[in-house]
Amino acid sequence: MHIIIIGGSFGGLTTAYELRRRLPRGKHEITVIASERRFIFIPSLPWVAMGHKSLEDISFDLERPLNAKGINFVNAAVTEIDAQARQIKTATETYTYDTLVIATGHRSANEAVPGLGPFDGPGHSLMSPPEAMEARETLAAFLANPGPMVIGAAPGASCVGPAYEFLFEVHHALKRRSLAHKAPITFVTPEPFLGHFGVGGFGKIRQYLEGELEERDMRYHTSAAVTKITDSSVELADGKVVPSQYSLILPPLAGINPVAEAKGLANPKGFVPVDATYRHQNFDNIYAVGVAVAMPPVEDLPVPVNFPKTGHMTEQMAKIAAKNIAADIQGGEKTSHDLMVECIMDMGNGGAHIFADPVRPPRNRTSFSTGKRWLMAKKVFSRYYLWKMKHGATNSPKWVW
Ligand SMILES: Cc1cc2nc3c(=O)[nH]c(=O)nc-3n(C[C@H](O)[C@H](O)[C@H](O)COP(=O)(O)OP(=O)(O)OC[C@H]3O[C@@H](n4cnc5c(N)ncnc54)[C@H](O)[C@@H]3O)c2cc1C
Repeated sequence: MHIIIIGGSFGGLTTAYELRRRLPRGKHEITVIASERRFIFIPSLPWVAMGHKSLEDISFDLERPLNAKGINFVNAAVTEIDAQARQIKTATETYTYDTLVIATGHRSANEAVPGLGPFDGPGHSLMSPPEAMEARETLAAFLANPGPMVIGAAPGASCVGPAYEFLFEVHHALKRRSLAHKAPITFVTPEPFLGHFGVGGFGKIRQYLEGELEERDMRYHTSAAVTKITDSSVELADGKVVPSQYSLILPPLAGINPVAEAKGLANPKGFVPVDATYRHQNFDNIYAVGVAVAMPPVEDLPVPVNFPKTGHMTEQMAKIAAKNIAADIQGGEKTSHDLMVECIMDMGNGGAHIFADPVRPPRNRTSFSTGKRWLMAKKVFSRYYLWKMKHGATNSPKWVW
């Protein structure tokens, strides 16, 4: 049996390690193919943009850890998937699989709003390592000569949390330099209220965030549809034009092109439809995990906000998928469970811990708490997580994800 996993991040790496634990070496070959040769702890990208961490600090090379576990690693971009022929192609090779796992994350749909950028427009982003590096360089120049700023997310965005983190971190940086008075910040979000996050909110987070933004003299617009970003402003669908010399607006996401273009594989946005076991709805030997998976929004909203797929949720999906692939091969019970979510948000001078089980309301448990200890916990966790992924310790105790 040859299992190919496309993607070497939260989804791909967790699936690979979990499958290796379940399927004997020698009998079953596992190959990870990833366009990026490093595992990058994406949740630390806001720290890269702020200049607190380098990409080196938050990543490691995939080849040795994978090979040490008896998993092949190919550093190449998949250009074509032929689900009918059970083949995938890179620029130079064709690979045949028995089972395929798609863990390819997202493509930033920057074309959704004119000016989103960062490489073809004046806006900035945090959604990928090159974009975070661009934000870092331009932010350093902006902080030396600050002016009005707009931070937020575009209609249809699903990953809104990093916009809040960037908002609080930038404000903290400005305040430390006694420059907050020169940089009025406006937060624009498609969410119907602050802290909705595409999941209907968490307990009293709405009231808390409203208070925190007001405390910091920030303006905010909810149910806001950004229509254009220029060098000097962010325009909204209701006619408002908000002056801005630095605009960081997170885009809506789509599936990567080779997945979106493969016959019968993806929905119109390029995400993969799966059943509760993370198996493709039409191809028995294809699974998908993480951001690549199609998931409906929790509710219809005046301005669309899509369902977020966090690293924590991706890890849960990968473990479920790996267990089910092993069951396909060796026999045994198939498994599934509702996803829960746990996140720590950096708020500049402190942090917030968010937990919900299940993530989609109504829920059995929700908790939200704040304090400096959560910022410390986020720093420790980011280092622990790199260690864990480097050593294949995905079977971690229940109290840490
Ligand atoms: C700025 C930011 C902050 C975040 N903060 C948090 C947080 O605090 N907590 C949290 O839980 N989640 C957070 N998330 C979400 C989290 O990062 C994602 O859920 C997670 O990265 C998804 O993992 P994935 O494996 O599905 O995809 P990705 O991490 O996007 O990885 C995709 C993989 O596929 C590979 N790939 C892509 N295209 C190809 C191709 N054509 N051929 C071969 N390989 C390919 C890439 O090289 C990569 O290895 C954050 C996200 C962002 C952007």
